[in-house]
Amino acid sequence: MEYDIHPLVGIAKKFSDEVLRPSAGLFDEQGEVPREIMREMADLGLLGSILPKEYGGQGIDPLSYGYLTEEIGKGCNSTRALLTVHTSLVGETLVKLGTQEQKEKYLPAMAKGEKIACFALSEPEAGTDANAISTMYEPTENGFVINGHKKWITYSGVADLFLVFAKHDEKVSAFIVEMGTQGLTRKPMRGLMASRGAHLSELHFDNVEVPKDSLIGREGTGFSFVANAALFYGRYSIAWAGVAIAHAALEEMVTYARKREQFGKKIGQHQLIQGLIADSTTAFYAAKSACEKIGYLRNQGDHNSLMEINIAKYYSSSVAMLVANNAVQVLGGNGISNRFPVERLYREAKVLEIIEGTNQIQQILISQHALRKFFRKDSIVA
Ligand SMILES: Cc1cc2nc3c(=O)[nH]c(=O)nc-3n(C[C@H](O)[C@H](O)[C@H](O)COP(=O)(O)OP(=O)(O)OC[C@H]3O[C@@H](n4cnc5c(N)ncnc54)[C@H](O)[C@@H]3O)c2cc1C
Repeated sequence: MEYDIHPLVGIAKKFSDEVLRPSAGLFDEQGEVPREIMREMADLGLLGSILPKEYGGQGIDPLSYGYLTEEIGKGCNSTRALLTVHTSLVGETLVKLGTQEQKEKYLPAMAKGEKIACFALSEPEAGTDANAISTMYEPTENGFVINGHKKWITYSGVADLFLVFAKHDEKVSAFIVEMGTQGLTRKPMRGLMASRGAHLSELHFDNVEVPKDSLIGREGTGFSFVANAALFYGRYSIAWAGVAIAHAALEEMVTYARKREQFGKKIGQHQLIQGLIADSTTAFYAAKSACEKIGYLRNQGDHNSLMEINIAKYYSSSVAMLVANNAVQVLGGNGISNRFPVERLYREAKVLEIIEGTNQIQQILISQHALRKFFRKDSIVA
């Protein structure tokens, strides 16, 4: 099939190779991706890449957006996280479910990077069981009042817009809340193993009043429509993030194996090291193929490939972990030194098995699907 990758992917690769890759260790150490980086990404069109042109985006197709995510993630995982929350989880969801007014109000500013957006669902006591959120809202004459506490919110430390999920009478609704609204405060999260540059914060909502038009979708559809749509886009992004980490780790391990000598020859000539490289390469290709398949499906207008996304996210995050682990092994002692990128890649890979649905939840969803799909009534079982 003829397919031209969008030129923005080449721009992302150049930016990633020249700017992100050399600085990723520093961002990790300093605990933040600097605002200039976000500004440069916006100027290059990367923050609005998949957003429609009519709202100031670049209108690139989902498959190219996947390749773009891979390029940015190869250079710096904390920077890639901005694409996941700002562009995928919030931007794409607004494109799908926002009203015309909401799209005009938020998307052009998001594409230009004038407003950074984040996705606020998780809470201290509600992670996998997201339905258990205790952030509440009360309808008022002019809109809604929100009270509660969110945790783990990527880029919320610098965000201007928050896609917030709250409950009323057991029904969950989604709202766009702007920074600066009275009663909304944030507290940075420190001491993290990974995603250190990704401005994670806790958010407190203390009688935060928002207008009626801050509601995304209809009242009570926060889970069934808004969160589900957002997680479709977010998991696609995280699946590509796994490919990115596996790709970067594979390059590091191969480069090292071709340079480092033990027992009088390059370690890449030892067959057991070749085994690690072969396993890593195979897993990387397979994970990338799974992501590309969804990209093709999305390019053809199929937006229902939810199970394929779950499978790709589950597999790709496991592959990132496998390949990063193999890379540490190939580098030996240097693999655990922060002078070498694989030490960070290993930490970053672990997070992908937790966010956007943990691996256990993916296993549950995938097995439920398989128990239906692969059942044969005519097979003999006893
Ligand atoms: C770096 C990072 C960034 C994040 N960014 C965001 C963000 O931007 N926005 C946001 O809303 N959230 C974010 N999160 C939160 C993330 O979505 C949650 O951490 C995740 O959903 C898991 O929830 P939890 O940490 O509360 O773990 P828990 O839900 O408490 O799970 C603990 C363990 O129990 C397992 N478990 C739970 N239920 C079951 C079950 N039914 N069967 C089998 N096993 C089960 C889990 O798989 C896990 O292994 C982020 C988290 C991290 C670490």
